[in-house]
Amino acid sequence: MHTADLSPVEVPQLVLLTFDDAVNDLNKGLYNDLFNVGRKNPNGCPIASTMYVSHEWTDYSQVQDLYAEGHEIASHSVS
Ligand SMILES: [Zn+2]
Repeated sequence: MHTADLSPVEVPQLVLLTFDDAVNDLNKGLYNDLFNVGRKNPNGCPIASTMYVSHEWTDYSQVQDLYAEGHEIASHSVS
């Protein structure tokens, strides 16, 4: 089936969420507001993001928590 054969309501909507730079107390609240309020994909799975983490200023215990919650962790850079 080609996408041209789908009606607009049948076309899947893909939303990619990515963040970059340090993970620490400065953005912990934002991530809580976005991810820990029950937002779900249509299949019932919680929404998640890819975090491009830089080393400098990162609190790795918070990175570990994000990973445990199902987020994808990627390398940004050291600085
Ligand atoms: Zn950056």
